[in-house]
Amino acid sequence: MPGTLFRLELRPQIPPALSRLSDLASNLMYSWDRDIRGVFWRLDKDLWRACGNNPKLFLRRVSQAVLEAAADDDDFLQDYHGALAAYDSYLAADAKPAVLAHLQPGQDLIAYFCAEFGLHESLPIYSGGLGILAGDHCKAASDLGLPFVAVGLLYREGYFIQTIDGVGRQVATPQTANFDELPIRLARDATGNELRVAVPIADRIVQLRIWQADIGHIPLYLLDSDLPDNSEADRSITFQLYGGNTDTRIQQEIVLGVGGVRALRALGVAPSAWHINEGHAAFLILERVREQVARGLDFDSALENVAAGTVFTTHTPVPAGHDIFHHAQVQWFFQQLLPHYGADEARVLALGADGHGETRFNMTALALRGSRHHNGVSKIHGGVASTMERSLWPQITPAENPIGSVTNGVHLHTFIARAWTQLFHDSLRGWRNQLLDIDYWQRIDEIPDHRFRAVRRQLKRDLLIDIVERIERQHRRNELPEALIAQATQHLRTHDTRTLVLGFARRFATYKRATLILRDPARLSRLLNDAQRPAILIFAGKAHPKDQPGQDLIRQLHEMSLRPEFIGRLFMVEGYDMLLARNLVQGCDVWLNNPEYPMEASGTSGEKAGINGVVNVSVMDGWWAEGYQPEPQQNGFAIVPVLDPNIRDAEEARQLLDLLEREVVPRYYGADGDGYSAEWLRLSRNSMKSLIPRFNSSRQVMDYVRGYYAPASAAARRLDADDAAQARELAAWKQRVRQAWPGVSMRLAQTPSSVVAAGERLRLLVDVELNGLDARDLVVECRVGRLDAHNQFVVQQVVTLAVDDGRWRADVEPLCGLQHYQIRAYPHHRAQAHRFEMGLMIWL
Ligand SMILES: *Cc1c(COP(=O)(O)O)cnc(C)c1O
Repeated sequence: MPGTLFRLELRPQIPPALSRLSDLASNLMYSWDRDIRGVFWRLDKDLWRACGNNPKLFLRRVSQAVLEAAADDDDFLQDYHGALAAYDSYLAADAKPAVLAHLQPGQDLIAYFCAEFGLHESLPIYSGGLGILAGDHCKAASDLGLPFVAVGLLYREGYFIQTIDGVGRQVATPQTANFDELPIRLARDATGNELRVAVPIADRIVQLRIWQADIGHIPLYLLDSDLPDNSEADRSITFQLYGGNTDTRIQQEIVLGVGGVRALRALGVAPSAWHINEGHAAFLILERVREQVARGLDFDSALENVAAGTVFTTHTPVPAGHDIFHHAQVQWFFQQLLPHYGADEARVLALGADGHGETRFNMTALALRGSRHHNGVSKIHGGVASTMERSLWPQITPAENPIGSVTNGVHLHTFIARAWTQLFHDSLRGWRNQLLDIDYWQRIDEIPDHRFRAVRRQLKRDLLIDIVERIERQHRRNELPEALIAQATQHLRTHDTRTLVLGFARRFATYKRATLILRDPARLSRLLNDAQRPAILIFAGKAHPKDQPGQDLIRQLHEMSLRPEFIGRLFMVEGYDMLLARNLVQGCDVWLNNPEYPMEASGTSGEKAGINGVVNVSVMDGWWAEGYQPEPQQNGFAIVPVLDPNIRDAEEARQLLDLLEREVVPRYYGADGDGYSAEWLRLSRNSMKSLIPRFNSSRQVMDYVRGYYAPASAAARRLDADDAAQARELAAWKQRVRQAWPGVSMRLAQTPSSVVAAGERLRLLVDVELNGLDARDLVVECRVGRLDAHNQFVVQQVVTLAVDDGRWRADVEPLCGLQHYQIRAYPHHRAQAHRFEMGLMIWL
């Protein structure tokens, strides 16, 4: 190209009649409200897509003529005013009664910290499930009117744009954002000045800017170190999501944790509870300890006070998902902060000890020690996390330690198709207020078959049109022969909505086993190429740029997709993002998920699919172990995990293909072979009925409100009252108990009888060597139960022994037959958040 190509952006003037378009463009409510997106889309559909569905950018590029015409177009104005009225009334709405039953706006406020937020493709600061989950959490918090703010980082490079080259290599192109094209603005103080905070990192002071994104009611504050006042190196701290090495990571996490607390203080935001969503944000604990020490508390009391109001959610059993730093890194990067925690360095470093090495500083361990409310993200994962982290409560069994679970959900409005919401508008009036009502959703059955089927067909057609375009673009760029491209899209070209469409899209981490279905390629080829009952299989997903095995999977799938037996039947589509994710989870017929049990934690893409009537075929792990229903209300298909690693892949691949051949294909096509048989519609309806009210993020956020945010807020207030009297008392008590505990012991003061007659009671008398503790400092309890078929002790009743005159006694009324019992003692203090939080227990 000769000469320089100069850039000129001609900015339109928005006509007064449309002046509030910029309001609609600046609140991320557009990420779930399709009427708002529709307003922009209608103005100029091609430009809308060219701008990556980004309304702010769109408003800069749209032509003056288009705007002038729209300002005169009554139909357009009607839609515009409709969207605006809904926008205004949403923002004016108060907190929902369900929230007010637990939290008090004005007093309670939740601060939610996460390293990534996936709200919409126009704000690319997410990489995968964790980010989308955080975004959905904020959206549901907004829907519910929760008093809530979120804190994250603003990455200039965000996550990469993925292309796949002609030989199947993933090409990761950094996506450099222009901040004034993003739906964010600078946070300012009361006098209109830009707010900044400073954070000491290593031997420097790093300045941070605070940006604000609005998610409905919820402000999301994003920190950014890219300021001229900072050195080049410091400017780049927040450049890349999960980029760089562990030095970059620890600095990013200081910005998030320490900078995030300082930002909220500068903004005048006073949280009652702090939610650490995954360990990346756990340094917020240290910063709050520093604040407490500065106000006069000792280290232990400060930690109690902070932990009481802190919630920590752990998200993955995969070790690489947990940040581990070296002590030397903490010492170097916290050199200015370490002297301010009111404790010697060794004690601060010990907060990150995980028992796997003397010099490891584990962010998950810090988060657990600095919070009193912890959870995993499904029932299975709660159990896995309890076991992984058992060393923090050494004398407590994992089943009883304080790690609980809240199963992830998805933001319904973001992920459910417009065609469904239009249909609900006619058939299920008021549905938006019924997200927590399981019975209400039985009404999905009232939608007539022909309308239900029409929506499913339309969504599939939309998807196929999109996939053709994407595949053509991808293959043309890679200069594949046109004949081959035509072959690759031949079965999509017809926009034939009869063919069964299977989808698999998520991050390409190896434990998710994207290629499991290809273990028996000949069998898969027969399945896809069946002349009467064909199927196509669509893959999409990014592998982390440093994950070579993950990228190998992409290459394998790409190669397979061009083989004669798979071409036109199997696709590896590049550029997975929230937009492609939405299209896939709405348009496929079947959603596949086959992680290695129990690595999935929760998984959410199957939930997105299920709420759209897509039928899940999935390993019984994470959310699906709770969501799957067999007949008579069958809502999908279950692959039963095989535990022996030697045969697992082969066995589970066989189960998967068996299910597809014997269940999915025949049921989908039905007797007449047309697809969407009555039987299939039943599965699809059951999927929506059962999953919509149970796996949406309003349910999830309400679980946090009840089980975590309300108790954490109340506990923090209690401990902090009267100059933190209870925090100090609890810290001193724990110190006393910890010292005395090794010398505490129990014995039976008299041998209890081993046979009692009906109507008689078992008399227990126990002596405790208190080693200086007070009798009130512990609980002695008897657990009565029976042995089950596997010789496991099943507790049926628990009796607390009463102390009287230095002896603990109880008269236990046994149930019947052969019973067993155990006697145990553990420390007790009324200010503890969990009765086993000290991790101490002795058994008789
Ligand atoms: C939902 C979603 C995910 C998470 O999918 P999983 O099945 O839980 O792995 C990842 N990326 C995007 C873009 C999503 O929308």
